[in-house]
Amino acid sequence: MQRVLVTGGAGFLGSHLCEQLLADGNEVICLDNVSSGQSENIEPFADDDNFTFLEQDVRLPDPLPSVDQIYHLASRASPKDFTEFPVDIALSNTQGTRRLLDHARACDARMVYASTSEVYGDPEEHPQPETYNGDVNIRGKRGCYDESKRFGETLTVAYRREYDLDVRTARIFNTYGPRMRPDDGRVIPTFVTQALNGDNLTVYGDGSQTRSFCYVDDLIRGLKSLMRTDSLNYSVYNIGKENERTILELAKEVINAVDTNSVITHEPLPEDDPSQRKPDISRAKTDLNWEPRVSLQTGLENTIDYYSV
Ligand code: UDP
Repeated sequence: MQRVLVTGGAGFLGSHLCEQLLADGNEVICLDNVSSGQSENIEPFADDDNFTFLEQDVRLPDPLPSVDQIYHLASRASPKDFTEFPVDIALSNTQGTRRLLDHARACDARMVYASTSEVYGDPEEHPQPETYNGDVNIRGKRGCYDESKRFGETLTVAYRREYDLDVRTARIFNTYGPRMRPDDGRVIPTFVTQALNGDNLTVYGDGSQTRSFCYVDDLIRGLKSLMRTDSLNYSVYNIGKENERTILELAKEVINAVDTNSVITHEPLPEDDPSQRKPDISRAKTDLNWEPRVSLQTGLENTIDYYSV
């Protein structure tokens, strides 16, 4: 049994991670300030004797529990929030990451840092391997997230070099599934709830921009592999699914899966919206012995069931 700290543990990914870690027999401490996370997410396992919830903010210098492992996921991650909470986001990923790195040093814990495909910005290299350094607009609306995640990575590398800290980075690509807030703004919860309500599906721009969508269970397996694997060839791994499609295609798939009369409408494309995104996951396949298993069709069905209740 390991003692594990999950920051952002009441969020979409964090709550699934806490649940899986408990199922594996670990003691789990979930830290969350419940800003974008929701307490309903942790209700299914809140009474587990091996689970503790700390309502805390990663940016503040409150004491942290001594643990064997840290997953640092705490940050708002929806583009909708980038306009409203840029300072909160920029500091969770820099000041918050520094605090967690110092804490990992203090208790000699192994740490997984949740980075993002957003570090690639609007990528010129396609698909994106970990060696690609990205093309980010540092002063644009997405900069608070993209650039702070990039600096967070820089900090992890600095702590590895200077202090020999065992910190690994996951670059998480678009992920979906139950427990995403329906008003989160991201494309799958938005399209699914629109389709279920019989509303128009709002495709931004002409819908030719692409994304690749990983089901949450696959993503969590990837994060756990990254934590668990003892000797790694690299300190950063893309975690995502290679099922690239256009947003227009996705809208049609959601309409078919929900079986609704909803139609597609178009709205303006947000600033700096990446035109293409697809992970190269060769590193993770080889070193972590991991790859996604859940098809978009099955994942969408599970997600639709969740929002239908
Ligand atoms: N998108 C859309 N309609 C929506 C929400 C999002 O067309 O109602 C598009 C968005 O412009 C982007 C893609 O879907 O091209 C994925 O957006 P999301 O916010 O889910 O994540 P991102 O990959 O941009 O971080």
